Formats: sequence, structure tokens, C-alpha cells
Amino acid sequence: MSLTVLMNAGPWLSVPPPGYGGIENVVATLVPELRRLGVRVVLASVGTSSLPVDELVSVFPDGQFAQLQRPYNQVCGVAQAHLGGVVRALRSRDDIDLVHDHVEAVGLATLAAMGPDAPPALHTLHWDLAKHPALYGTFDGGDRVRVNGVSASQLARAPEALRAHSVGHVHLATPLAVGADRRPAARKGDYALILGRINPGKGQDLGARLAQQVGVPLVLAGPVGPYHRPEDLAAAGDEARQNPDVRFFLDEVAPHVDGELVRWVGTVAGQERDDLLAAARATLFPLRWEEPGGTAVVESLALGTPVVATARGCLPELIEHGRTGLLTTDEEELGELLLAASLLDGRECRREAAVRFTPAVMAREYVRLYDQVRQHATARRLQPA
Ligand code: UDP
Repeated sequence: MSLTVLMNAGPWLSVPPPGYGGIENVVATLVPELRRLGVRVVLASVGTSSLPVDELVSVFPDGQFAQLQRPYNQVCGVAQAHLGGVVRALRSRDDIDLVHDHVEAVGLATLAAMGPDAPPALHTLHWDLAKHPALYGTFDGGDRVRVNGVSASQLARAPEALRAHSVGHVHLATPLAVGADRRPAARKGDYALILGRINPGKGQDLGARLAQQVGVPLVLAGPVGPYHRPEDLAAAGDEARQNPDVRFFLDEVAPHVDGELVRWVGTVAGQERDDLLAAARATLFPLRWEEPGGTAVVESLALGTPVVATARGCLPELIEHGRTGLLTTDEEELGELLLAASLLDGRECRREAAVRFTPAVMAREYVRLYDQVRQHATARRLQPA
């Protein structure tokens, strides 16, 4: 296939990311598979990105993530500067067939603002589409700029103007799904795990309270705001409370965290994360928001751990109730479901992941969408005025 894609991962973190980095992880999962399919990839990222690509375009030498802690009026030029570099690259060459953009809001707006001679673009919506109502509610990308979601349920709630530009959704993937059906079963512990940022939408307060009620050991893994380790949060003192996720943790979650039945272990990474996930009796997603994509959900399946969750957002698309997990619309029922989850067969979860959530499946879907976006842009251009 002779297709050259400019993959815009943004200025915040290198690809692959050094630690937490949802979008950068998706790009790191997708790009090697695209290249295996013969796609040339020009990556727009920061200078420290180490992902093998055909070319790297960057404005910033390294990740600008730390800037996000500063006030908006001091940092609002960062993403724009990065996009400026992308626009200059697109204007100075004619080998880019399509831009695949992942930069929240400003990526979409900048690509749409480029003239009709710019390449067609696909912008992946990685977030909750209730955000940016002014932008999404009035969006006009013409025939050239299209969007895709990471689940059907996410797109279903998008404003009409944005949905009119949609070419559908592609579920998230994980490298852990490759050969998941052939991996031997892990020895299971007795605990359940909530893996994710500690945040009201992810519902760790509810999970911790219910675990105490039914007596199931629960491990909470993930950062609290910028704090990755319990000792760092403790050392930060009262100043840490300026962060809303810190206030949520201290006020709503911590009262249920006794360090014995319910523990917060901070952020886990690499093999430690995978081992913790594989040995859990179930993962718990006591959601209070419409989870858009759920990377941790597909990782759980890939490691043979059934998912217990509120039936919100993408969960009903990813989980088959009674086979790969247990879903409920009644959040108070989640504790009981945690007890029942031990009856589910982890092999079914691994099989499901190996069929639906591998990087190869995701890459094939994106290549299909690239074709669709390019055909649509060309067809319209060829129409008589
Ligand atoms: N994650 C991790 N360590 C943690 C908590 C989370 O590696 O302690 C990872 C998790 O495995 C997943 C990502 O962070 O890959 C979270 O992505 P998800 O889509 O589940 O949630 P988001 O934070 O993007 O809403």
C-alpha cells in the first residue's frame, strides 16, 4: 500500500509515553501495525519520542505535560505552537495523503481552518463529547475533515454538527491482547482491582464503600491528581487540596481506605501493573460518567480478568454480561456482583480480547476509515460546481 499518514500525537508527552499517557499509548499501539500494513508514518510529536517511524516532525524538544499545571492564559500557546509546526510541514510538502490527528480541540479546529488544498484529515475523539459544546456544536470541517469515536455510545451523545462529520468508531486495543487466548491462566488472588485515575467519574468512592460492605478486598491503583505514590500525597500537605481529584480522594474515598481490606497503592506500571491485573478476581468500574473508550477494560479482558461495572458508556459494547463480565444499572448491586464474578471463566475474557482488541484489528479498522475519508474528500472535490 502506498499511503503516507501524518500522525499527530501532540506536544504533551513522548510516544511511547514514559508513564501514564492514554493518547500517546494509542498512537504507540497503532503505528507499528500500520507500518506492518505498508503505511508510511510521519509522526508529529516531541523530540524525545522514540517510536520507530518513517519521519518525526516536532516543535518542542520534549514533552510539555508539566505545563498543564499552569494557568490557561500562560499555557494556551503550547498546543497552538505544535499545530503551527504541523501546518508548516503540511504546506511545505506534497507527500502526505492524510492527517490522523489526536490533539483535543485545537487539532480539529486548526485542520478545519486550513484551506481546501490541505490533505484530508481524520480526527479521533478520545474524550467525553459533552466537553467543548461550543466547538462541537458548531463544527464544520467541510468534506475534508472527518471524526471518529472510540465507541458507539460516545458518538451517540455527540452534538449533531459533530456527528454529521463522523465516519464511525474504532474500539481501543492493547498489545496484551496478542496471543491472549494462548497465554496460560494466571493464579488468581482474592482481591478486586480498580485501575485508573482516581476521579469522581471513575467512582472509587462507591467501589471502596461497596467493597467494605461485602467484605471483598479491593486494591485501588492509579494517580490522585499529580500524585503517583501515597507518600508523595502525604508529603504535599494542605496545598495538594487545590487539585479537585485530591479533594475527591481525601474527602470521599480515603474514609473507606483502611489499608487492609481497601488499599490505595498509587500508580502501577509495566509488569507490576500486568501482574496485579492478571491476579485480580475481577476489575471493578463503578462508573459515574459515560466512559468513552475504556483502555483498562480491554487490558483486563486480555489478562483474563472479568469486568464488573455499571452499564454506562462503552461498557455494554465491550463486555458481554454473564460471559466476560457482569454489568448492572443499579450501582448498589456492584458489591454482590464482585462476589459472583469469581464464577466467570477468565479464558472467555482472553479469547474475546484476542479476537476483538488486538492492535492488528484496530489498525485494519483505521485503514478502512482512512480510505473512506480520502474517497469522500476526493469525490466531493471532483463534483462540478
Ligand atoms: N494505568 C496504569 N497504571 C495505573 C492506572 C492506570 O498504567 O496505576 C493505565 C491503564 O492501564 C490504562 C490507562 O492508564 O492503560 C487508563 O486508560 P483508560 O482509557 O482506562 O482511562 P482514562 O484515564 O483514559 O480515562
